[in-house]
Amino acid sequence: MPKGVAIVTGGTRGIGLEITKALIADGYQVAAIYHGNEEAAQKCEADTGAKAYKLDVADFEACQKAAETITTEMGEIEVLVNNAGITKDGMMHKMAEENWHAVIETNLTSCFNMCRAVIGRMRTAGFGRIINISSINGQKGQFGQTNYSAAKAGMLGFTKALALESAAKGITVNAICPGYIATEMTASMNQDVLDGVIRQIPVARMGKPEEIADICVFLASEKAAFITGSTITANGGQYMAS
Ligand code: NDP
Repeated sequence: MPKGVAIVTGGTRGIGLEITKALIADGYQVAAIYHGNEEAAQKCEADTGAKAYKLDVADFEACQKAAETITTEMGEIEVLVNNAGITKDGMMHKMAEENWHAVIETNLTSCFNMCRAVIGRMRTAGFGRIINISSINGQKGQFGQTNYSAAKAGMLGFTKALALESAAKGITVNAICPGYIATEMTASMNQDVLDGVIRQIPVARMGKPEEIADICVFLASEKAAFITGSTITANGGQYMAS
């Protein structure tokens, strides 16, 4: 059955690229949002057939305009995956104020910006799927990541509140908390730190971006219609949140 349009923020690289590919394989047309990496965006378009849109998800007005443009150019938005995210680590006593705001705005305020842009039309349509990519570090906290852990934990409360508001309108809102996944974000970590992390993962490896993408495809499907306000944890057993 042909499907509608899915937006994947940060959809041209890393976990987001695999989400883009998996949703296209499942029949969606995908608008993949990126911020600055033109090369990755062009490669994503050429390799997957997604349409890439350049946008800062921390910019409210830009998000509203982008959703309008995507609806006009591609059609009604059925699925929104809030995946774009950054890290700017540092211990609290050394953290620059700008690094607090950058991470909160890019990782958390972006969810408000993008959901605000699509939720009205989803409510009118009586259908929608919103999937927020949080993190294990939002569940358990992480040394050097007060900004990132706060943003990712904030996404979980945001998910539950929006799920409550949206359930009667046929819209589900869920979060996924990946553990450590092999992407450029984790490749930038110090190898000793990474080895230490892998020792804490019961399945003894990092996750693959495809393993998060498959959860997105399921949450976007009709089969997941009874799941809303949930947090799906995918971390190889590293943190067993209930
Ligand atoms: P990457 O760093 O590989 O990719 C990040 C993506 O987000 C890129 O496409 C980037 O665009 C986009 N992006 C960043 N800032 C903005 C912005 N302001 N506006 C629009 N797009 C932006 O990240 P990952 O794939 O590793 O992570 C994806 C998500 O998963 C993030 O939210 C991350 O916090 C979360 N996560 C990752 C884990 C991991 O181990 N990798 C673990 C748990 C959660 P561009 O290419 O233009 O720079």
